[in-house]
Amino acid sequence: MMVLPKMLFMFQNLPIIKGVKVFENWKKDLVKFIWNGKKARIAYRNLIDVKDRGGLALPDLRYYYEAANFSWLKDWIKLDNKKLLKLEGHNLRYGWHAYLWDEKDKVNKEFKRHIIRSSLLTTWKRYKKGIEPKTPLWLRPLEAVLRPATCIEVGTYEEYLVKERGQWALKGREELGLKDWFSFYQLHDRFRKDAAVGFASKKSELECIFDRGNKGLLSRLYKFILDYNLADNQIKTVMISWARDFGRNIDLEEWEYLWKKGFKFSLAGSIRENMFKMFYRTYITPELLAKIEKTEGGACWRCCQEVGTYIHMWWHCKYVRKFWYKIFKEIEDIMNIKLERNPDKYWHKIPTRPHI
Ligand SMILES: [Zn+2]
Repeated sequence: MMVLPKMLFMFQNLPIIKGVKVFENWKKDLVKFIWNGKKARIAYRNLIDVKDRGGLALPDLRYYYEAANFSWLKDWIKLDNKKLLKLEGHNLRYGWHAYLWDEKDKVNKEFKRHIIRSSLLTTWKRYKKGIEPKTPLWLRPLEAVLRPATCIEVGTYEEYLVKERGQWALKGREELGLKDWFSFYQLHDRFRKDAAVGFASKKSELECIFDRGNKGLLSRLYKFILDYNLADNQIKTVMISWARDFGRNIDLEEWEYLWKKGFKFSLAGSIRENMFKMFYRTYITPELLAKIEKTEGGACWRCCQEVGTYIHMWWHCKYVRKFWYKIFKEIEDIMNIKLERNPDKYWHKIPTRPHI
C-alpha cells in the first residue's frame, strides 16, 4: 500500500487530528475503493485484523495515527528527553504526569491551548482507563507537583515502592533519598490517594513496549492498539456459521492452525484468495440471492430440490458429492490410504490431529 508511508510521515510529524470523524471518512473512501463501490463482503474489522487471527492485515489509518501519538506520549511518560521537555513545558504550571494522570488540564487551560499537546492528550484519554486501570509504576508522583521548567528529575513509583506481604508500601525517607521533609510529606499524601485506586502489580504492557527501544516502536504500538480494539473480534461470525454447518464445535486451536499454516501452504495468489473467500463465505448462494431479491425459492440450481445453503452448494448436493468422491478415490488410489468423508477435512484443511 503506497499511501501508508506518506500518511505515517504526516502522522508522526504533525499529530494534530482531533476526533475520529476524519478517519471515518477516510475509512469509507477506502472501503469504497476496495469493494469497487459495491457492498462489502468481508467486515472491515476482519480486513484490518492480524493474519494470525484470520484477518487480512489491512492497515487502519486511525490506529496508525494513534500509534504515532503514543510514540510522542512515550516522551511524556518516560521523561527521558529532559532538555526538550523542559523547553516544551516551560509555561506549564504542573509536571507532565499531572496532566497525564491527574487531569490537571482542566485546571490549567494553558496545556490544551497548544495544538499538538491537546490532540495528544485527547488520544491518551481515549485509552487511559483501558490500558492503565490502576496507578502505573511508571508514574512520577513528585514530578506531578513540580513545574516542568524547574525540575523533572524525580523517581517513579517503581523506585519509591516496596512490596510487603503482597501490598505496595512506601520506602522510608532515607531509603528514598529525599533530602527535605516537605517532599517526603508530599509523596506520602500522594501515595495515600493513589493507594485508594490501587497500584498495578507489575510493569504495564505499554511500558514494556517503550522499554524495548525506538526501533520498530511504531509497529509494536500499532499491534498493541489493534489488539486492544479488536479484543472482541477473536470469534468471528463466520466461525459460528461454519461450526453450525459442520455440526460440531471447532476449537480455537483448529482455527489457529488454519490461519497460521493452512492459509500459508501455497504462494499462489489465486489459491490463497479462494481460501479466504471460502473462510469468509463470500460466495453468494441461491438462498442468499433469494433473500436479496426478496423472491420465493432459493433452491439449489443443480438438484432443484433442496434449499441452496452454503453447505449444500459445496458438499451436501448429490451432484457435488459425485465430484468430491471422484477426488477422494483418486487420492486414495495414488496415496494408498483411506480417507474420511468429512467436509471439514478438505475445505478448510482442519486436521483432527495436527500431523495429518
Ligand atoms: Zn443441490
